[in-house]
Amino acid sequence: MVPILSVFSFGLGACIASFLNVVIWRVPRGESIVSPPSHCPKCNAPIRWWQNVPIVSWLALRGKCASCRAPISPRYVLVEALGGCLFLAVFRMVAAATPPSPDVSLLLAHTVSVFVLWIWVSLMIVGSFIDYDYKLLPDFVTVGGMVLGVVYGAFQSAIFHSMFYVLNSVAGLAFGFGLLWLVRFFGSKAFRREAMGMGDVFLMGAVGALFGPVAVLVTLILSSVVGSVVGVAMILLSKTRLGNFAEIPYGPYICLGCLAWMFYGPELVGMYIGMFK
Ligand SMILES: [Zn+2]
Repeated sequence: MVPILSVFSFGLGACIASFLNVVIWRVPRGESIVSPPSHCPKCNAPIRWWQNVPIVSWLALRGKCASCRAPISPRYVLVEALGGCLFLAVFRMVAAATPPSPDVSLLLAHTVSVFVLWIWVSLMIVGSFIDYDYKLLPDFVTVGGMVLGVVYGAFQSAIFHSMFYVLNSVAGLAFGFGLLWLVRFFGSKAFRREAMGMGDVFLMGAVGALFGPVAVLVTLILSSVVGSVVGVAMILLSKTRLGNFAEIPYGPYICLGCLAWMFYGPELVGMYIGMFK
């Protein structure tokens, strides 16, 4: 079953990400995500279904519009591949954590967690690219993530008959939101300009609601370290002939930190504790 479901997960992720490309492009422009149907932005030729197969069509058309040969950004195919890989990684992770013959409630819980994490990685993809393009994080990503996290915590509490899950979720939400609010408040005072937007504060609240307070700390540390390294590298590179780089907002780094927590959380905490031994 696992190999078949793995292929299905990748395919579904790539298809969903193909739709996320539409969301990333249209939502910030205030356009409808259902109509009009996909068309080439250059020549307006409608994109037929066989030209819209994720990853495959872009490669077959060599990244060009079938009608006018205008180049199509490789970002579309990268987002589709990213969606496929992340959906696959979520499924493999949950499958690996499921014992060979799980009881009904565990199987149900793990199935639901696959769908919850698929929704969350989809929201992170949309949030990261819209934040990169427009320096804003839509509410449906951040507030949506918070609601998803608390509902999921309540569901786990009900199925496992333990209040731990929902309390961990609410504590994570409060901790993530509160911590980033403080960073934002004192950062703005120290630098006399807005250190980060409220969207980042809400996004960290969502990370906490989904994964708890420890995840918030790990995500904060990782996103700050990676963000600083990339930021300094870009400042240095922009002084060379390679030219200017757009400043990357904080949202995508929070998402990267959260992904690292999701897939390597226990290892990262173990490494950190090991440093003090
Ligand atoms: Zn065209």
